[in-house]
Amino acid sequence: MTDSDLRPGLSGLTQEALEAWLVARGDPAYRARQVMTGVWAGARSAADVHVLPAGLRGALDEAFRFDTIASTELVVSDGSRTEKAVHRLSDGAVIESVLMHYPAKAGQRERNTVCISSQAGCAVGCPFCATGELGFGRDLSTAEILDQVREAAGRLAARGRRLTNIVFMGMGEPLLNLDRVLEAVDGLNDPDRFGLGARHITVSTSGVVPGIRRLTALGPQFTLAISLHAGRDALRDVLVPLNRRWPVREVIAAAREHAAKTRRRISYEVTLIAGINDTDADADAIVELLRGDLAHVNLIPMNPVAHTPWTASPMPVIERFAERLRGAGIQTTVRRNRGQEIGAACGQLAADRAGAPSPAAVSRRRELLVRQSVAALRGDRAPDDGLLAVPSAALPGADR
Ligand code: SF4
Repeated sequence: MTDSDLRPGLSGLTQEALEAWLVARGDPAYRARQVMTGVWAGARSAADVHVLPAGLRGALDEAFRFDTIASTELVVSDGSRTEKAVHRLSDGAVIESVLMHYPAKAGQRERNTVCISSQAGCAVGCPFCATGELGFGRDLSTAEILDQVREAAGRLAARGRRLTNIVFMGMGEPLLNLDRVLEAVDGLNDPDRFGLGARHITVSTSGVVPGIRRLTALGPQFTLAISLHAGRDALRDVLVPLNRRWPVREVIAAAREHAAKTRRRISYEVTLIAGINDTDADADAIVELLRGDLAHVNLIPMNPVAHTPWTASPMPVIERFAERLRGAGIQTTVRRNRGQEIGAACGQLAADRAGAPSPAAVSRRRELLVRQSVAALRGDRAPDDGLLAVPSAALPGADR
């Protein structure tokens, strides 16, 4: 894919960078704050920032984009509590964000959480995820990440509501685009830009160990979430193909170090798939890994994904799994999946827009999944025969 519009997005710029550009043109540095205020108030072009002189408006539009999202299609479900946004970028790449509304309840204020993408597509290839099936497109720029937030915050503001939480759990593996993700987090934290406290931000990873170690060295205050899905390597190799590169014990060890350094609890996500990873033995494998750790486990029934042979675990099975973890002293929450009827599975609408794969490709994928999961349930580590969309050796940071 080539970007048809090479102008950088303004939301991805720091105030200092914008000041330097202004000063180099002979404009006063204080204009940077006026531009940033306009950008974060939802301006789509310099014409929307009335306080700026006409000459500067023209120069800004020529040099930068006020919005890197070319168009957005909204699909609403759950009685308007879940809104999926399919964003088209200037090069035609399609990404998704999901805005979820949680009404106030006893002792808790309402929450509005947006789940955003960090890449177009994903190289990791988790088979229960529609994005994994799409394969990797490209990394998103800092502005393309932040503009998903601006767009969601703008929708909420029009209804008198505020965005309270941001999770990097949409399309892509955030730690494989870590520089841009960290710049985006800075932009979200920056009081001159979005100004959201780090504790309201969660960055998730499927287990990129060098990325986790880099985060640990930086000591950020946002929540780190690990997509665990299985405690046994043989099964995790199938569900999270990156496990072949960084096995689960290495991931947990890195996460444990992160928790010790930041004193922040790690959140572990487990998508439960009927008959695949929802047995007592699977719960016990997770207990063995996490017992005594500063950890919280979220159990999520799998969202149906078109081209897998799998379905979500039934709720009584999920509750039993949760009780087994809680019985071992591990804090556990059962999450409801949102927006099933609109394809809330990560990447599902983007995959639909990309067109259906051929019946032969679908049947090959199903056969592969059945073969690999049967081997995994026997405890065998099956050879890597194609679920990872790129060879693991080609992953950034694979040599560390
Ligand atoms: S679940 Fe996340 S890491 Fe796995 S394929 Fe989907 S987007 Fe990538």
